[in-house]
Amino acid sequence: MQLQENRILAPLTTFGIGGPARWFVDAQIEADVVEASAWAHERRLPLFVLGGGSNVLIADAGFPGLVLHIALKGVEEQDAGADRILFCVAAGEDWSQCVERAAKADWAGIECLAGIPGTVGGAPVQNVGAYGQEVSSVIGRVRAFDLQDRRMVEFDAEHCGFSYRKSRFNTTDAGRFLVTRVDYRLQRGGAPTLKYPDLQRAFPSGSTPTLAEVAAAVRRIRASKGMLLVDCEPDCRSAGSFFKNPVVPEDLAHRIEFMTRNAPPRFPAGEGKVKIPAAWLIEQAGFLRGFSRGNAGVSTQHTLALVNRGNATASEILALAAEIRSTVEKKFGVVLQPEPVFVGF
Ligand SMILES: Cc1cc2nc3c(=O)[nH]c(=O)nc-3n(C[C@H](O)[C@H](O)[C@H](O)COP(=O)(O)OP(=O)(O)OC[C@H]3O[C@@H](n4cnc5c(N)ncnc54)[C@H](O)[C@@H]3O)c2cc1C
Repeated sequence: MQLQENRILAPLTTFGIGGPARWFVDAQIEADVVEASAWAHERRLPLFVLGGGSNVLIADAGFPGLVLHIALKGVEEQDAGADRILFCVAAGEDWSQCVERAAKADWAGIECLAGIPGTVGGAPVQNVGAYGQEVSSVIGRVRAFDLQDRRMVEFDAEHCGFSYRKSRFNTTDAGRFLVTRVDYRLQRGGAPTLKYPDLQRAFPSGSTPTLAEVAAAVRRIRASKGMLLVDCEPDCRSAGSFFKNPVVPEDLAHRIEFMTRNAPPRFPAGEGKVKIPAAWLIEQAGFLRGFSRGNAGVSTQHTLALVNRGNATASEILALAAEIRSTVEKKFGVVLQPEPVFVGF
């Protein structure tokens, strides 16, 4: 393991924001993970696990402990019978490339998750989802290092506590497990998921697109919303959606409709509740695409993404997020929850 000092973190994040890590290790193999975490443990240093940096906002002052960057590589395929394949991928592999590989091989289950930035190890942490699929639906097993009991462990999907943008890894056991490998159960030759209207519209009705065509269509739709990482695209300097879509009681949705004289899009969420797009609330609160406060702004292509317009600091992004949050709360009584992880604050 190679220990680095005062490594600047901004270039390792999609926001392009963040000060130095006091200590930094690039973990290439599981043994690096074990050794580096023991090193931090002995010195009572806080430890932060960094994947692709696509869902974090790192403080301008950086992180005072050890940042363990997950760079574990390796991909394996195992036959799982009955048209199933077990696709075993190391945590440091690029998630988007993993989806491309599966779609090309005609293995169904993750084609709608094409173009989501980040690593394979980061995906189960917030149970990434898009265009009608969530990664939890195909996860067979997650291998991880338990930083508390200091041993390798494996979880079935049922023991990962998955729900919308949640898992045990970012709720009850946040910071305890360091994911080193994820095994996906994919269906050989399975049909693509075409649930979302945006995606359905990409194909003539009655046609049967391949998985690779669906993945390509998802990437095109994402690109049109600034949600695909593209070099030199200013709206890409973000962490994707900054707020989660709130789930509210149905009568509150009716009140919001009455106040705005405009019906919010709503999706049933059970128990008399509905999910409303956070982007819709933010727009109704007066923050339109392209809105700016200094170097921080709202993406010109997607209201839900806060972007670094050049040399934004973490404090500027946080101040804009706080302004949006309090305006939406005052106007509609809905408290928006941020999606990215705040590091070093
Ligand atoms: C343009 C853009 C579009 C996006 N679109 C979507 C979308 O459609 N749907 C969606 O769900 N998300 C989306 N995201 C958010 C992000 O891509 C995902 O959350 C991604 O899975 C984060 O992975 P990462 O490796 O970058 O994690 P990081 O950002 O590095 O880390 C995020 C959290 O996961 C933890 N973590 C990372 N790796 C590991 C590991 N190996 N073991 C344990 N903990 C770990 C970190 O400690 C941190 O708490 C988008 C982001 C961007 C920038």
